[in-house]
Order: sequence, then C-alpha cells, then structure tokens
Amino acid sequence: IAYDACVTDGRRHQYYVSCYCYLDVYFSFFFCFFFSSRRRHTRLRRDWSSDVCSSDLTPIGVFFLVAWTVGKIGFESIVGPLGWYMTTVLVGLAIHGFLILPLVLFLFSWKNPFRFMWQMKRALMTAIGTDSSSATLPVTIDTAESEGGCSKRAANFVLPLGSTINMDGTALYEAVAVVFLFQLYGIELEFGQLIIVVITATLAAIGAAGIPSAGLVTMVIVISAVNMNLSGSASGPLPIAAIGIILGVDRILDMCRTAVNVWGDAVGAKLITRLAPDE
Ligand code: ASP
Repeated sequence: IAYDACVTDGRRHQYYVSCYCYLDVYFSFFFCFFFSSRRRHTRLRRDWSSDVCSSDLTPIGVFFLVAWTVGKIGFESIVGPLGWYMTTVLVGLAIHGFLILPLVLFLFSWKNPFRFMWQMKRALMTAIGTDSSSATLPVTIDTAESEGGCSKRAANFVLPLGSTINMDGTALYEAVAVVFLFQLYGIELEFGQLIIVVITATLAAIGAAGIPSAGLVTMVIVISAVNMNLSGSASGPLPIAAIGIILGVDRILDMCRTAVNVWGDAVGAKLITRLAPDE
C-alpha cells in the first residue's frame, strides 16, 4: 500500500529510503538481542562473538571499506596528481613502517622486528579497520601483552601515551599533504618554509586526537604557519579550503597512517619492556 501511494505520488525513492530505515532498525534489534541477552551463551553466540572480535573477519571488512571508498570517489580520482600524492604518502609510510621502525627495534633490542609485527597483527588490522588509534588502544594493549611479549608496565604506560602523542604516520602524512597542496596551487616553497612544514607537522600530529581524519583537521595549523611566513611575498597564501581536494582519498590514507601510528607505539612498548620488565 505504501509503495503504491508513494509511486502514484512520484516519491518512489522515499519508499525505498523508508524500507531501508525499517530494515536497519530490525537488524539493530536483532543484533542487540543476539549479543546482549542475559541468557547463558549459546555455542553459536559465543562463536560469533569471538569471530567478530578476533581479526579473522577484519581483512574482509577492510577490503569492503576500500572498495566502498574507491566506488564513492570514482577510480579516475585516484589517477593523476591525486594518485601521485597518494603514492608518495603510501611509499613514505611503507619506508617508515617496514624499514625505519623495524631497524630501530632491531638495533635497540636485537629482536626480530617482523616476527613482532606478525604478533601485533590483530592490533594493526583493527587500526586499519577503525582509522582510530584510540579505538584500537584496548586491542593494542591486550595484543602487546598476550602475544607481543611486552611487559604489563611498559604496555600500560607507553601505549596510552603513544596513542595520543606518538603519531609518526600522521606527521609524515601532514607534511606530504601540505607540500602537495602548495605545489598544486603553484606556490613553490623555499627551504626555510619546508623546515616550518616539518616542525609544525610534527607538533600538529602530537596535538591530533586518535580519531578518524584528525590529521586532516590539524593540518590547518601547518598551512596557517606557512601562510604567515609567506605573507608579504609575491606568492599568495594557500586557501584553507584547499584541504577539500584531498578529502575524498583521505579514508584510504587514514587506514595506513593509523596502522603506522599503532605500529610505532607497539615498537616503543617493546623497547621500553627491556627497561621496565614485569617484576
Ligand atoms: N586516524 C589517525 C589515528 O587515529 C589520526 C589521523 O592521522 O587522522 O591515529
């Protein structure tokens, strides 16, 4: 009846939207009942919970998140200048995550860094899936202690601190993004201005919260600092609204930089474990 009423009214899309909302509500009811009923855990419920909470399903979720983002912004946005920008960020993150941090871990602890990376996979996958170091924090602490061999003292001190102030991936990303935007607007930065970018991007990353796209917001600080330095020079300031250009592809980059942020924290906890082992 509702469908007929909507179609004769020319509001077919409204009908579909309402159906979708109803389905959503029913699904939420079912899901909440399934997981929060006070009855004894049935085997099915227990298996479901452990599957959802473990990393088994995370790669599938990550695949659909990337597919959804690419579908939303269109494949053609990923080629061209934005493609080069993304490649630069991803290569930078890869060098930092797979070379620099493992090297630091190896030199200071003589442990196999890639084995440790594999042990931390549950936290890294959760970081990729949630785009948030803060949301990942409980998993990071648990994985570092139970699988990564970090001491309780080190994990409980280093990881919460690191999840808010140690954001290597975000600092790297902000610096690349700001230089890219200035170049896109035809403003060449001199050496002194690049140093400003490096310093303010590091400070902005320390100030960024461990939530999705926080780096995109604190990037305003970096752009404003360079703009202040540019005032009086021939090349005009970069409009803050330019950040909108990189908004579409941010989801994919956020997944990767959040994983690097969490990996950096885990490496820190592993190193501190030597200095602060459990008694
Ligand atoms: N999503 C990042 C994190 O939670 C922060 C950012 O770079 O946007 O670590």
